[in-house]
Amino acid sequence: MSSIPFPILFIMLVFFTMWMILRKFNRIEQQKRDLPELGAYLAAHGQAAPRCVACGAAELKDEGLTHGKDERRIVSCGTCRTLLYRFVRPAEEQ
Ligand SMILES: [Zn+2]
Repeated sequence: MSSIPFPILFIMLVFFTMWMILRKFNRIEQQKRDLPELGAYLAAHGQAAPRCVACGAAELKDEGLTHGKDERRIVSCGTCRTLLYRFVRPAEEQ
């Protein structure tokens, strides 16, 4: 290890850290894309109105998949932040 100059070691560490962050970010992105549609979510959990499956809270929040105004919405629990389902918001509502 002492044969590797310190700056190189530092750069390797920076790249490794960036790679780890990117990998984690990609995994969360993939989880969001794999979420069920609202209809499938309600059917799977036998619900008439969407509620959190983890804590039962009815207060949910939605956010854009890639940015705030994205019409592909990802809904998560407002209390425990569990990812629940996704839906596509009609374009004219924006
Ligand atoms: Zn919850």
